Amino acid sequence: MITFQTPLTGYPDLEAKIAYGLARIGTEAIGLEKVVIKNCGGYYQVRIDIDDSDFQLLENTFDLLCRRLLSDEHIPSMTPGITGRSARRIKTTEKDAFPLKEYLGCEYAFSNKKTENVCKHSGSSLGNVMGFAASTAYYNKRNGIDIVSIPQDTRNRNSPKLLRRPTNPRNICKTCGLLSLLGSWYSTFMFSMVDKQVIGIPIPNREVSGDVLGQVFAYHHLFRKEWFGNPIPEKAIPLVILARIPSTAYFLKDFDLLVIVFSGGGNRGYHADAMSITPIKNYVDFIDASSFNIATIERLINTGSYELLRILNELVFYGRKELLGRFARIYVSQDNTKSSNYRTLLYVQTAYYFLREVAMINPEIIENPAIGSLSRTLRYFVMNKKYGYADDIRNARKESRDFEDTIAKMLREGRLRLEQNEKIHLPSENEIKEIFRLAYDRFEEVKTALTILAFSFPSGIEQN
Ligand SMILES: [Zn+2]
Repeated sequence: MITFQTPLTGYPDLEAKIAYGLARIGTEAIGLEKVVIKNCGGYYQVRIDIDDSDFQLLENTFDLLCRRLLSDEHIPSMTPGITGRSARRIKTTEKDAFPLKEYLGCEYAFSNKKTENVCKHSGSSLGNVMGFAASTAYYNKRNGIDIVSIPQDTRNRNSPKLLRRPTNPRNICKTCGLLSLLGSWYSTFMFSMVDKQVIGIPIPNREVSGDVLGQVFAYHHLFRKEWFGNPIPEKAIPLVILARIPSTAYFLKDFDLLVIVFSGGGNRGYHADAMSITPIKNYVDFIDASSFNIATIERLINTGSYELLRILNELVFYGRKELLGRFARIYVSQDNTKSSNYRTLLYVQTAYYFLREVAMINPEIIENPAIGSLSRTLRYFVMNKKYGYADDIRNARKESRDFEDTIAKMLREGRLRLEQNEKIHLPSENEIKEIFRLAYDRFEEVKTALTILAFSFPSGIEQN
């Protein structure tokens, strides 16, 4: 058994990428199921189930991968965070040799000098910590975003100010640089968003091996060519990534997603506009629950509804149930379809998910036939763009009589329309009594269920 250790640089992104790089070498040498990545909190161990005497095989594999993938500028220049100049410098040459012995332990001296490589290895260095850390100003300002601005024309103090794009970062040894590049290439999601680039790195929270590792390696390429024409809110990026590759969902459950948004590029250097680490579990639960949930996200992306995407993120990630009514209302009313026969409503499966998992409403209420019956009447008005009743019910307060009054008013109008031969369903007397009885004890639950169901497509059971 050979156990590698990442070099404790203090950068979560860099450590993970080096771990993936080492794991990829093990995978190429002897197969996925013999490789384990373990998150040790701040650094990683990569265990490779191979005889100690076969160490040379791993070094040879690394050498082969470097020759095959990293001997030209293609991969470095495709990787956000690496400037054009660095991309030209980082490629490997015939003369280079990259020992892996330094990753077997952590027995090197720390000189704590500025000139020291951040990985503390003594090998030849690169002036670019593979993007995310130093070249994006995170090295000097790890706990925030660098917002220092400098004049566009450095000789004219009054010229417009631009955000600083630091291009003189700290050093890293070339071996770590290449391992990190391999890791980026095989295990990160990268895509473009207007003039920015986004990179997402799955950070394992437990031991990762075999199939799960294989999935991480397999899915990254799906994302490399994606381009979004609108700026997706940064917080919703994990949701969008997972929706685009839903089959990743189940195996990424125990991962966090580190997301970095870059602006700039080319020779100018990059600037990290945002960086966040988010646990993925809540997103996976949402996406795994129903394919209609994915369709909901897709619709918001395709129609450029980024404000709704932001609210959806608040619902799914933080469980902010007070936003649920607002979400459904905007989702439905922003649809401009002229026809009164068709209206974009929430998928009922998604509505059920929200009611159950976000609003935490008891299934007895959600599936109650009386509630279903009254929400059907309410839906008739929603379909006709008459949102007043739904809004009044949504905003009704328990201590007032708004709830009862609105329902009475709606039923009066419903009866009138029925007399005019319109196709409208009306609840029975008993159903209305049942609803008032339920609302007496569980007011919030009842009014939420009523309105959300009214904003949703009818479930298959209802006959119109
Ligand atoms: Zn190093």
